[in-house]
Amino acid sequence: MIEAKGYAAYDAQSSLKPFAFGRRDLGDSDVLIDILYCGVCHSDHHQVRNEWSGTRYPVVPGHEIVGRVAGVGAKATKFRAGDTVGVGCFVDSCRRCDACRRGLENYCVAPVMTYNSLEKDKKTPTYGGYSSRVVVDQDFVLRVAAKGRLEAVAPLLCAGITTFSPLRHWKIGKGHRVAVLGLGGLGHMAVKLGNALGAEVTLLSSSPSKKTDAKRLGAHEFLLTSDGGALASAKERFDFIIDTVSAPHDLAALAGLLKLDGTLILLGVPPKPAEVPAFAVIARRRSIAGSLVGGIAETQEMLDFCNERGIVADVETIPIQQIDVAYDRMLKGDVRYRFSIDMASLR
Ligand code: NAP
Ligand code: ZN
Ligand code: ZN
Repeated sequence: MIEAKGYAAYDAQSSLKPFAFGRRDLGDSDVLIDILYCGVCHSDHHQVRNEWSGTRYPVVPGHEIVGRVAGVGAKATKFRAGDTVGVGCFVDSCRRCDACRRGLENYCVAPVMTYNSLEKDKKTPTYGGYSSRVVVDQDFVLRVAAKGRLEAVAPLLCAGITTFSPLRHWKIGKGHRVAVLGLGGLGHMAVKLGNALGAEVTLLSSSPSKKTDAKRLGAHEFLLTSDGGALASAKERFDFIIDTVSAPHDLAALAGLLKLDGTLILLGVPPKPAEVPAFAVIARRRSIAGSLVGGIAETQEMLDFCNERGIVADVETIPIQQIDVAYDRMLKGDVRYRFSIDMASLR
């Protein structure tokens, strides 16, 4: 066992607290990573509070990991000690199912998630990136160019790939009008990446205070979702809407902003299901779709794309001891625009 320490939630109500645990010894194809930074995703909070049910405690959240390779297994050839690397939402997959064969490990029928999951032995719990170190099979480790600010690169491992993947899948770019709903971690990456891919981007937000930032981040327009007049004027305007909101909201009203054949892409996972009247979609042959992070090859493509264009997340760097404050602010929509934990604060 390799000793590790981190912060864990011990139940659905309490603050996160220090937690000492073991990582598996290096297998032949494993990489040992000293974690430098870990982004704070809203999914961490959903799971800490058991909002999706099925959380196993203690849970060490965190799936936006950037770190440095501290050692590699006997047959691991892809990385060397000292390399800067990343780990995202999953750390292994079955490697046999149709999705895995297509390089879509994110849609594997039996993935090993970075935390709140079981290792391939089906009994050892996985623990995430709010921790000192992690052991991951080399096939699920990403190469990170060392030149970016690493605390701002970490959020690309979930917020970045989760928005990049649907933009690519639906070939969103020049000539498309795309709306992004919610300016948080995912939303701000959707704005940056949508803009970089050439789309005309409108930010739909519940926060008037975010207008200036939305424009600075690359949105061409800003609409306040509480402004009935502004929404009425945006009726049937968009080819795509990327919905990143973490709380229940009105999908029918949102669908009304789509053109004929437009697509509403759900990324946010509110704890309660939404109701959608059939007329909201059939009247203009609209689609409601969803997308879950991205595969390993596509994640590497996204990291390389962001590196070439100088795209990183806008982060507020915090010590792990401030995680509860960060969660509270995230719940109020007050994230500018991702918290990134400096893991040096654990030592
Ligand atoms: P976040 O940083 O908290 O951002 C969510 C944003 O949604 C807020 O900043 C706010 O933006 C808006 N919002 C929040 N509560 C709202 C409410 N009650 N009504 C209206 N708008 C509200 O969260 P995140 O990390 O980006 O994650 C967003 C969601 O995506 C979460 O549910 C998360 O679990 C999910 N997620 C999904 C995937 C996937 O693969 N599909 C991956 C990662 C995360 P405004 O202030 O601009 O309104
Ligand atoms: Zn995430
Ligand atoms: Zn699989």
